[in-house]
Amino acid sequence: MLLISCPYCGERPEEEFAFGGDASVVPPNGAGEGAPVGTETFADYLYLRDNPKGRHREHWIHRYGCQRWIEVERDTVTHEIHAVRVAGEGK
Ligand SMILES: [Zn+2]
Repeated sequence: MLLISCPYCGERPEEEFAFGGDASVVPPNGAGEGAPVGTETFADYLYLRDNPKGRHREHWIHRYGCQRWIEVERDTVTHEIHAVRVAGEGK
């Protein structure tokens, strides 16, 4: 069983969590705080994603626990988890 170490709750089974997407991409308008961008630029941000091999930063939510967002650094090939931190705290 794969365990994810939630920064708030400690080690919990993977089944309690839900994948929330790529944590390495930043909205082109700075999450609403920057200058407006065109529809095409924003659509690219929403829909174009790399599918990397190896270590990758992902957002996960502890759906059946504290319901908080966390950032998981996971190897997309081996599924090994290298780091878990509070979402938004960066590297
Ligand atoms: Zn939690």
